[in-house]
Amino acid sequence: MRLRVPGPTPVPPRVLRALGQQVIYHRSSEFKELLHDTAAMLQPLFGTRTANPIVLTSSGTGALEAVLANSLRPGDRVLTLDNGHWGARFGRLAASLGASVEAMSSSWGGGADAEALRRRLSAPDGGEFVAVLVAHNDTFTGAVTDLAAISDVVRDTSALLVVDAVSSLGCLPIEVDAWGLDLVVSASQKGLMCPPGLALVTASEKAWRRIDKVDPRGEYFDLRRARDMAAQGQATFTPAVNLVRALHEALRMVHETGLTQTFVRQAHLGRALAAGVAELGLSLYPNADVASPCVSVLRAPEGVDAAKIVATMRDRYGTQIAGARRSRLDGTVIRIGTMGYCRPDDIRLDVWQLAGAVQEQGHVVDVATAIAATERELEEVAA
Ligand SMILES: *Cc1c(COP(=O)(O)O)cnc(C)c1O
Repeated sequence: MRLRVPGPTPVPPRVLRALGQQVIYHRSSEFKELLHDTAAMLQPLFGTRTANPIVLTSSGTGALEAVLANSLRPGDRVLTLDNGHWGARFGRLAASLGASVEAMSSSWGGGADAEALRRRLSAPDGGEFVAVLVAHNDTFTGAVTDLAAISDVVRDTSALLVVDAVSSLGCLPIEVDAWGLDLVVSASQKGLMCPPGLALVTASEKAWRRIDKVDPRGEYFDLRRARDMAAQGQATFTPAVNLVRALHEALRMVHETGLTQTFVRQAHLGRALAAGVAELGLSLYPNADVASPCVSVLRAPEGVDAAKIVATMRDRYGTQIAGARRSRLDGTVIRIGTMGYCRPDDIRLDVWQLAGAVQEQGHVVDVATAIAATERELEEVAA
């Protein structure tokens, strides 16, 4: 099955080979060096020179929960920016830990609204939020939030800015130091060309001051211990050592390509898919100015059933794309990942196969025009 969902994403052969090496002792000097180098290679992706990225063995959600459990006390007031699926879900995680959560809603398909946030935080009771939660790249709506604009509002308040960057790290610029992002969480299986199983966390000085004051809940995800161990190139408990090896190799690949070049390539791949499928009548769900290069969320043309497109792609072509199950977009959109290990030929096949899948439902298309539109964007991308 060709895997084309917005996570988990395929893994390059080099990373698979790294993964398949013999297990090593997690207290050995070899592993220490591996973890140390991995953290050092992660720093530019997070845009930090000062924060030491912490590698946790869990999916992204485990680390999202961990940063909240380490920085919030029951009853703390939290504001979540609800502009899609993940902002609301982030708020539910905080609520599950006893926080008093308020959601600030803005329309799906746009980024989180910085101006509305400014108004909310300057209201008489707006200074009491302990944390503001935001998803960087909403993998359900395909919209990117301008984190610089959001942090511009939050950084001079006492609130922590907590960022879900699960699907954006490695694909979109993130500037922890320059933007003052307090807690940032990502995971291995989206933009980072690795299998699922590792999560990544950075914390600012402001975040650590808060975390040092809050009693940790539970041992496994105690971030103070994780910080102290990470400073010695160690994990608190037995980490997924083979996944760390895989992540190390994937990060070497990113740095061989160069970070800026990686972002440029990502942008072209996203645009190439959008340009091609637009000729098939599949239009972007998010607003064009915030459309993500990491995931294409597409509305089916009039009279075409999105769920049937997913089924045809799977059953006829052996390509797994995603619908939007368990969200309010269920049945109306399809979602395709262009993040991580995605190549121009993947995009060409996507366009060709999607043409077949919409034609099967009686929607007549001109495949040659669609392919030509794709190729124009792909001209800039190396194979
Ligand atoms: C995939 C995703 C998650 C969930 O991560 P898991 O690793 O599945 O726990 C959270 N937030 C965003 C934005 C995602 O894309």
